[in-house]
Amino acid sequence: MSLQAFRLDEKLAERRLQQRLRQSKTHDSAQGVWLVRDGRRFRNFSSNDYLGLAAHPQVQAALVDAAGRYGVGSGAAHLVCGHTREHQALEEELAAFTGREAALLFSTGYMANLGLIQALAGRGDAVFEDRLNHASLLDGGLTSAARFQRYRHNDLAHLRTLLETTDANARLLVTDAVFSMDGDQAPLPGLAALAREHQAALMVDDAHGFGVLGPQGQGAPAASGCSADDIPVYMATLGKALGTFGAFVAGSRTLIDYLTNFARPFIYTTAMPPALAAATRQSLRLVQAETWRREHLQQLIRRFRREALAQGWPLMPSETAIQPLLLGEESRALALSAALEKRGFWVTAIRPPTVPVGQSRLRITLTASHNHDDVDALLAALSELRESGL
Ligand SMILES: *Cc1c(COP(=O)(O)O)cnc(C)c1O
Repeated sequence: MSLQAFRLDEKLAERRLQQRLRQSKTHDSAQGVWLVRDGRRFRNFSSNDYLGLAAHPQVQAALVDAAGRYGVGSGAAHLVCGHTREHQALEEELAAFTGREAALLFSTGYMANLGLIQALAGRGDAVFEDRLNHASLLDGGLTSAARFQRYRHNDLAHLRTLLETTDANARLLVTDAVFSMDGDQAPLPGLAALAREHQAALMVDDAHGFGVLGPQGQGAPAASGCSADDIPVYMATLGKALGTFGAFVAGSRTLIDYLTNFARPFIYTTAMPPALAAATRQSLRLVQAETWRREHLQQLIRRFRREALAQGWPLMPSETAIQPLLLGEESRALALSAALEKRGFWVTAIRPPTVPVGQSRLRITLTASHNHDDVDALLAALSELRESGL
């Protein structure tokens, strides 16, 4: 009974009472439109596999082929003996694709963000973050030795006030490019101008933009006309639009050399399996070549928004694949999620503490795997539920 003092039961009971208790739900399907659970099929509108590459035959084949040559595990951290030719080639290709001198692989985006912020910003420095940034960015700020300040969501005037009153040596501005629970985008050119004005460096987490935004999927900087000088620290994940796993940071040679030596979540962890790096290289080729995936996704987004707005749903100001319905109370988000599940749709309810209290929502995501019929089926179900008063 040594855990009794930690009051785990009590804290869990409180979560349950608030309707905020979470549990994983097991399913048996590959990523794609259909999710199979307990023998039932659901149209999946909760995946971040925005381009439909997670189960692409060529990406799978690259993984299997490389596993045949390299085996499964990488065996060690990058700096010990875990760094293979596949990792090296992927880093070089990611650097070239994002227009940077160099790139560094991390095993997850969470670790990349912790590692970056902790390594860059130390005592006497300051980190400024949008208050709706992803938890991994906020945790990086909270656990760094620097002074940590949050500004109101996308509020450049508030950020300017904070920058004008800081006496910190080095200043790091940190933002999501596409906000993960809202789907709206950061004003990157405005943030870059503020950073320049106040001798700050801008770091962008492009987890939901990389692969999806920009003419070839280079991400939010390309889509918003920002250069590598504007955004000296660029980070993106590989588990969303790229459909594989892991993350990377891209920037100057000096930045990457520095992180290689100072970012503890890079140094002290096992390198991603080489076969995953090989699969990601194949996925990157598809991202660049298959422009139709981005165009099709954009069409679905426009169609969904037009129809859902006409039905009267509270959409958020998002032009991306993330199209939340802002419902308010936890109970309302859970009820709508359950009603959709009954009709064969998988749409997860998002509740506090992931989003602010009173802003529970249904986070609908569209992907290039969906066709127009899938979206129309979802819209028909939503319309029926709207009329029944949910
Ligand atoms: C998913 C996500 C991460 C974490 O990436 P993982 O590779 O899943 O750990 C970081 N930042 C943002 C904005 C994300 O959406």
